[in-house]
Amino acid sequence: MGLLLAAELRLAGVDVTVLERAAARSPHSKALTLPPRSLEVLAMRGLAEPFLREGEPVPTGHYGGLPVRLDFSVLDTRFPYTLVLPQLRTEQLLEERLRAPGGEIRWEHRALEVRQDADGAEVDVAGPDGTYTLRAVWVAGCDGAGSAVRTSAGSGLPRHRAPREGRGTADARAAAGAIAGDPDRMRAVTARPTTAHDGWTGRRTVLVRPDGHVAWDAALSTT
Ligand SMILES: Cc1cc2nc3c(=O)[nH]c(=O)nc-3n(C[C@H](O)[C@H](O)[C@H](O)COP(=O)(O)OP(=O)(O)OC[C@H]3O[C@@H](n4cnc5c(N)ncnc54)[C@H](O)[C@@H]3O)c2cc1C
Repeated sequence: MGLLLAAELRLAGVDVTVLERAAARSPHSKALTLPPRSLEVLAMRGLAEPFLREGEPVPTGHYGGLPVRLDFSVLDTRFPYTLVLPQLRTEQLLEERLRAPGGEIRWEHRALEVRQDADGAEVDVAGPDGTYTLRAVWVAGCDGAGSAVRTSAGSGLPRHRAPREGRGTADARAAAGAIAGDPDRMRAVTARPTTAHDGWTGRRTVLVRPDGHVAWDAALSTT
């Protein structure tokens, strides 16, 4: 969210500062797919092509681990599928878009608190060399589920414990030759039902990259 917004603002000539509390991009992916609406939004900004080139379209999939398989092929959209592409690649492609017009990310800079006044806002930031305060006309709270920025602004999200359902995502490497198929394409294999660890039963999506790297996404349910 923050990368896309920052890239768009930068393209419009706005001076943007992106703060990221992590020291580097995580090699592990949470999201493994881009649903139709996300692809439509990227296409609106002329951005869909590199994602479509790398991703693997899969016509059905789960949403949020719900025990109902969604059929994207019936949707009235240019993208009637969910595109399997690890979040790591999504973020890297968006970062390229940000860097092209000169945008930068300040890694290891954590937003602590935001104060708003009549002319803009101030952000207290903890960086590797200590804390400092940034002044900006606008501050966008794109800092994820537990957003410090949105909490400062009084618009943090109330949290609810999910019903009795588990969810797991793992990255793994397949043994050489263990995976048959077209080596030039990333392959997505979906299977259900399957039995996963700890006695959970549910659906499983296995994503295989040409280099044999497997990102495994499991939506698990006790039912
Ligand atoms: C297991 C799992 C699987 C998922 N699968 C899918 C899927 O298949 N398809 C899909 O569309 N969505 C999926 N999602 C949801 C998707 O990952 C999120 O909707 C998406 O990452 C939200 O993007 P965001 O930019 O709002 O937040 P994030 O991706 O969380 O990015 C927020 C960034 O802000 C940084 N940050 C946090 N606090 C601060 C701070 N105080 N100062 C500076 N930086 C800070 C974080 O380090 C992070 O880099 C999944 C989520 C999970 C957990």
